[in-house]
Parts: sequence; C-alpha cells; structure tokens
Amino acid sequence: MFTLADRVSRIDASGIRKVFDLAKSLKDPINLSIGQPDFDVPAVVKAAAHAAIDAGRNTYTPTQGTAELRAQCVAEEKAFTGRNWQESEVMITSGVSGGLFLALLSLVQEGDEVIIPDPYFVMYKHLVRLFGGTPVYLDTYAANFGIDPAALEKAITPKTKLLLVNSPANPTGRILSRSELEGVATVCRKHGILVVSDEIYRHFAYTEMVSMAEVYENTVVLVGHSKAYGMTGWRLGYACGPAEIIQAMAKVQQYSFVCAPSVTQAAALACPQVELSPYIATYRAKRDLMVGILSQRFEIAPSDGAFYLWAKAPAGFTATTFVEKAIANNILIIPGNVFSERDTHFRICYTVPDAKLRQGAELLCNLAGR
Ligand code: PMP
Repeated sequence: MFTLADRVSRIDASGIRKVFDLAKSLKDPINLSIGQPDFDVPAVVKAAAHAAIDAGRNTYTPTQGTAELRAQCVAEEKAFTGRNWQESEVMITSGVSGGLFLALLSLVQEGDEVIIPDPYFVMYKHLVRLFGGTPVYLDTYAANFGIDPAALEKAITPKTKLLLVNSPANPTGRILSRSELEGVATVCRKHGILVVSDEIYRHFAYTEMVSMAEVYENTVVLVGHSKAYGMTGWRLGYACGPAEIIQAMAKVQQYSFVCAPSVTQAAALACPQVELSPYIATYRAKRDLMVGILSQRFEIAPSDGAFYLWAKAPAGFTATTFVEKAIANNILIIPGNVFSERDTHFRICYTVPDAKLRQGAELLCNLAGR
C-alpha cells in the first residue's frame, strides 16, 4: 500500500493533454493545437550533436553547465539585454521547464503568492501549487493582454513573492512593449518584487522585443533552445539572474536533474551559426495569412510574436463549446480555459503547412457562421 504526497493532488494533468488524446482519435485532423515548431533541428546543430557523441561527450557536465556554453549564453545575454552579465549569473537548465522548476522551487514557499498574468502558460500555476505557493491571477483581458501597472499594483500583497512575465506569450503571441515593461518595473521596484521572465519565444518576434532584464535589474530570465532551433526533445535552456538565486538553483539541480544533457549542451555551441531569420520570416507570413482570414470572423489578440493566435469564440459559444464543434469538424484547437480562468477564447498554433492553415482558418470562419 502507498499514499501519494499531498502536493500531487494540488495539480492535475494538463488540459492540453486531453486535446492531444482526442487528436489521436481523429483521422488526419487539421491540427492547430501543437505548440512546437514544424522545422527540424538545423543540420549544423545535428552535426555538432553527432560529433559530440562520437567524441565521447556523453558524461555528466558541471551542474551549472559546461564553461563553453555558459560563456556563449553570457555573450548572448549581454548582446540581448545590454547588461554586463557575469558567469556566476548564468546556468544551463533542462529546457525552460527545467529553469521554471528550479527557479520556483528555489524561491516559492508555503504561503507565498505568485502573480501570474492571465492568460498564462499552463505550467506556471501547477508549479506554484506544487511548491506550496498560491497563484494570484492578474486578468489582462481589459489591458489588451498587456499588463496594466495599476492592476498589477492592486494584486500585490505582503505575501507576494514574485511576478511571472511571459513575452512573447503563450497562448496569446502578445509582446509587452518597452513602455509596458517599464511600467511593470516601476511597480515591482517600488514593492521589491522579483520578476521571473519566461522569454522562450524571444526569437520569434515580429515587432520590437525587449527583455524584462533590460529594464528591471531584479529579474531572472529564462531562455530556451527548444523553439528557436526545433529541438524541443533535446531539453536545453538557460537561466540568467541574480547570482544568489542562480547558485540556489544550481544547488537544487545538483540533486535533481544533475545537469542538462551533455550532448545537447555541446551541440548548442553550434546554434549561433544558424541563421534564424528565414524561420522567423516564415512564421510571420503564416501569422499574416491566419490573421488575414480569421479577423473577418473573430476578434484576435495582438499577435506580435511566438506562433500562436488567441481568438475570441463567436457569440453564442463558450470556448469549450466552440472547440467541441471544431473537433467534431476534424479541426483541433485548444479551449482558453486551459490557459485562463476564463472560457472565452481559443488558441491556434500556426506552425503547420500553409495549405492546412488556409483550410483550417476557412473552416473555423464557416463554423462561426460566416
Ligand atoms: N514556457 C512557455 C511559455 C512555453 O510555451 C513552453 C513550451 N511549450 C515552455 C516554457 C517550456 O519549454 P521547454 O521546456 O521545452 O524549454
């Protein structure tokens, strides 16, 4: 006999998984639910992985990551944020998921409140709960999915530990502008609130993308290789922030993940050789294609980055009932209540071939009663 730890009962399996399970039962659906790029790992990165395996780079690495990759990440962050990062402020993680896990486990304790702008990436609230914290949702619908500093200030209490920021965002594709970030920084500075900034989609930006770390010193930035290099299964990313937090995260990594995968750390040294602009241009064109068709029938949130659209369910539908209708018509999208306390919108991921996108967008318009 056994009993599970109570903490496990505080979380449930992601609603996205339920949609993925449904997907298996459909024959050749128009699948706009995926959430990852549709390109393979670039050849130069694959070759570096093969070479790393052959050269025997198959063993543990230092917990914080190899010196070469950390140096590369420091250089990248200096260039991106304009800040003079030190090596003690950077560690390599097993994807941004690994970074989120380590950061939240190192920071959140029983009774702490974590402010999560709603809609949100599903993992945030579950990790906060797992670690004994309380998610406090900051509704962003009225702020056009940005963060209103006054609303943020209202959400802060003496128990507030940190704010999670995600720009470009999953599920909306929204990018927070420099002035919005500055508004957030002013409030956080005033109240001494740390920001954990998930910037996994920072490479897919179709307008100016500013890092939270550029405008606010008290930030832990999480960056990942999964999306930019099509290597979601390779489990790589990094965290960059105050040295004391990074050292705590490394201590936790030592007794959990141990290190990020050695082969992918070696392969990532080739990532700077990859020209990302063709991928970005492709996804921007897909964004334009989808917005062009869908905006005839749907209200769509500003979609300046990542590869998602956040569309409002048509009149007479909740997100759930509209998604049910879509699935009955062989098209897979994700209901907003997976990512939100509301059930009014649905998420589309547009990393699929153009012909399928066109077909899907037109079908959705028809279902909305064009
Ligand atoms: N953050 C966001 C906002 C995401 O959408 C994802 C992946 N869907 C992750 C983090 C996790 O990415 P990974 O662990 O592959 O780096």
